[in-house]
Amino acid sequence: MARALRPVRGTHDLFGDDKRRFDHIVVTARSIAAAYGYAPMATPTFEFTEVFRRTLGETSDIVTKEMYTFASGSGEEVTLRPEGTAPVARALVSGGRLQVLPARLFYDGPMFRRERPQKGRMRQFHQVGIELIGEPSPVGDVEVIAAGARLLKELDLADSVVLRLHTLGNSASRDRYRSALVGYLDQRREGLSADSRRRLDRNPLRVLDSKAPEDRQVANEAPRLLDFLDRESADFFAAVRHHLDALGISYEIDPMLVRGLDYYMHTTFEFVTDRLGAQGAVLAGGRYDGLTERMGGPALAGTGWAAGIERLALLTGDALPAATRPVLVACISAAATAQALLCAETLRNMGLATELALQGSLKRQLRHADRIGARAAVLLGDRELEAGLALVRDLDTGQQSEVPFALLPNHLSEISSNG
Ligand code: ATP
Ligand code: MG
Repeated sequence: MARALRPVRGTHDLFGDDKRRFDHIVVTARSIAAAYGYAPMATPTFEFTEVFRRTLGETSDIVTKEMYTFASGSGEEVTLRPEGTAPVARALVSGGRLQVLPARLFYDGPMFRRERPQKGRMRQFHQVGIELIGEPSPVGDVEVIAAGARLLKELDLADSVVLRLHTLGNSASRDRYRSALVGYLDQRREGLSADSRRRLDRNPLRVLDSKAPEDRQVANEAPRLLDFLDRESADFFAAVRHHLDALGISYEIDPMLVRGLDYYMHTTFEFVTDRLGAQGAVLAGGRYDGLTERMGGPALAGTGWAAGIERLALLTGDALPAATRPVLVACISAAATAQALLCAETLRNMGLATELALQGSLKRQLRHADRIGARAAVLLGDRELEAGLALVRDLDTGQQSEVPFALLPNHLSEISSNG
């Protein structure tokens, strides 16, 4: 097929039920965010590359190989956002919105990563996410996890996922651990995958969540970060667990859960499923105190998560709220056009979804009504126009009645309220 007729690899078009399923996830997430006091906001789709390079880390997978970077018109280097947290934090600082902290923010939108496309892994994908910025307490982490759990429950996915929890500790604990880990991995270097041998020098913690089988065994026998936590870090993690327990949110401690980005510290978590192969993470996040400092801004605490809408959609399967069924106003003769237009507008004034059919025989228009799942059809031809009425067909019962123009809105409201 001509290139101009093809979607780019790793991108998708959405129609019909697929789009409705997608929107349902966004709407559900937005309403749950609102229930926790998170206000919707939006950031641009591209940012100066520095926003990501400085925060995600020079050695992260995203920065080393997944970013779509290009020159902006003014010669600066910009990047299509691969994630939402750094832009949200950037926006809070650039907008001078630091008087009212903590800030509770919700976003949704497309993200871009140059990845190898697979089921549940795209180059343009979409996320919903929340960020709690300016809240240093471990209770903040519990709040965002609870909101995530509630979203998954609301989408009927509570039984399809488990919550994995870990901590990276503060930077002192992490540094101590890193040296111990590098010492250990150095001895096992021969047994590691080529990727992990590279990670060993640049980003050794990443070896722990490598998916390569040869790395798994090395990782399983590695020293545990949890044994290297200092007092502050251990207390922080204990508080997170305590409050999760108090809320009855169950979790598994996963010592391999290190997340790929430099900005994380203390709490990290992922809700994972075993139903999507290697694409198991559906909602993931953690604490990122100091992220704004990395961009040259003030030091702010922060915690939050993002969920991949396409992965959630794959899991929710066929479950979908019922679609609104429109009324079809079918114009059978050219002379009835003006009346049909007017009639459709009147029905819309009443709050009824109304579609106008301007061409084709009566039979064709009724077939169209069927295809779009219309609840009723209003048929207007020369005979009806002359008599000042319309033929209304209830498409579920097949019943037909002649209804004067003035009574159409009420008549159709009644039909539409029955399914
Ligand atoms: P993975 O380990 O699957 O690569 P990740 O750690 O890179 O995930 P995050 O950066 O934490 O993912 O993004 C949060 C969520 O966004 C993920 O849990 C997932 O649901 C979704 N996501 C991430 N990358 C993609 C992608 N390329 N396509 C579709 N969804 C994605
Ligand atoms: Mg990834």
